Amino acid sequence: MIFMNSAPRYEILSYPINAATPMYGSAPGPVLIPFSQIANGDTSNSYTISLFNHTGTHIDAPRHFVDKGKLITGYALDELIFNHPAIVDCPKEGAELISRDDLRTVSYQLQMSDCLLLRTGFGRFRNEKRYRTDNPGIAPETIRWIREEYPSIRCIGIDSISISSFQYRNEGREAHRAAFVEKTGFGKPLLLIEDMKLDIVTQERLCTLIVLPWQIDGVDSAPCNIIAILR
Ligand SMILES: [Zn+2]
Repeated sequence: MIFMNSAPRYEILSYPINAATPMYGSAPGPVLIPFSQIANGDTSNSYTISLFNHTGTHIDAPRHFVDKGKLITGYALDELIFNHPAIVDCPKEGAELISRDDLRTVSYQLQMSDCLLLRTGFGRFRNEKRYRTDNPGIAPETIRWIREEYPSIRCIGIDSISISSFQYRNEGREAHRAAFVEKTGFGKPLLLIEDMKLDIVTQERLCTLIVLPWQIDGVDSAPCNIIAILR
């Protein structure tokens, strides 16, 4: 008898970008302009795409808040592949900040991890206004603590539009700086993945994450495709 496992071996943890993609604050939404169209007598279909660089599932590099920080194209592929991703559930219903207390029972998981995925469950509200206005974020103190205590963690991902709660923007800016600053006693600056699709993977099956930011020179951050390899 041949055992057939029909569960998918790969998932993409990035949302497609479209006109309904939620944007943080006053950031402009994506614009798609047909350039040539077969329906109009052209020989091919093509588009000009205008995109804010923090649109949809995207990855922030240090240049976002540190003017001499690394650009998004400054990463080698092996810095964007994570073989020990940890998914930690931190259920949040609104504008709350993830605290050290939310992570107090998962110390071992954090120690073993190179990429921490914080699953708030808030992704289920992605089609609602509150996803933009009342999103959970991460407390700056939590980021500092992770960098001091768990230097093997190189990246944090979250299923919220930003690690900045829109209701706590000052703390959000501070949290970004805490992630990106170079400081003795801290591990390397982090990468941050925002607006990540985390409802389709489980810790048991998640084996490797491959994060592929659009290769656009000169910018701080970029949309990214994230491939999960499952066991
Ligand atoms: Zn961002």
